[in-house]
Amino acid sequence: MRTKLAAGNWKMNGTMAALDALEAIAETSVNGPAEVLICPPATLIHAARSRSGTVAIGGQDCHAAASGAHTGDLSAAMLKDVGADYVILGHSERRTDHEETSALVQAKCRTAWAAGLKAIVCIGETLSERDADKTLDIIGDQLASSIPDDATGDKLVVAYEPVWAIGTGKVPTTGQIGEVHDFIRRGLEDRFGTGIGGSVRLLYGGSVKATNAAEIFAVSNVDGALVGGASLKAADFVPIIAALN
Ligand code: 13P
Repeated sequence: MRTKLAAGNWKMNGTMAALDALEAIAETSVNGPAEVLICPPATLIHAARSRSGTVAIGGQDCHAAASGAHTGDLSAAMLKDVGADYVILGHSERRTDHEETSALVQAKCRTAWAAGLKAIVCIGETLSERDADKTLDIIGDQLASSIPDDATGDKLVVAYEPVWAIGTGKVPTTGQIGEVHDFIRRGLEDRFGTGIGGSVRLLYGGSVKATNAAEIFAVSNVDGALVGGASLKAADFVPIIAALN
């Protein structure tokens, strides 16, 4: 059985005052079996840890190297040290803003695992790739090249985030989500075997809201969501957690 996961990605939003929202999420979301995770900006991770109750805390990126001369970057061990359990890797905004390749994402994933973090590896096609019928090719390539060979369900989560659905209010049909999630599941099972491939959790991300969450969570091989905008306020995120429970 895969434990459902409701993950919030706060992106570059939130100062110390935002931890009130985290506390409200922690106070109202503890009643179900789903795991809840918030990935605030790195500046808030340490303070978040002491106010998050059973809500797990994660980073949004880490460097591929374990330590060293990389001004402005953060290592996986630093995130772990201040209370992170997870790290998001290869988000499309990092692939775009920082030209991150799947090979780099794979290297970061190895470093994250070595530091004891669980990795949420993000993959997804652009609108022009979908329009050109290349979605499954892109997903297959990103999946193959972003994930190291020693993956297990304990340390890997895959998030399918179509780039065109992020922050746009546009959501794929449940048929489109199911097609990609089933494809990812088959790809993981082919590569890692049915035991490991069947135990990795698959999240959908892109304009998830309280109003569409239940429908998305009913799709096969959707084990939860990676939520951006709607994870910033308890009033928006708590109903999404409830839909998963
Ligand atoms: P939105 O939920 O704001 O569309 O963002 C999704 C996302 O990118 C989560 O990582």
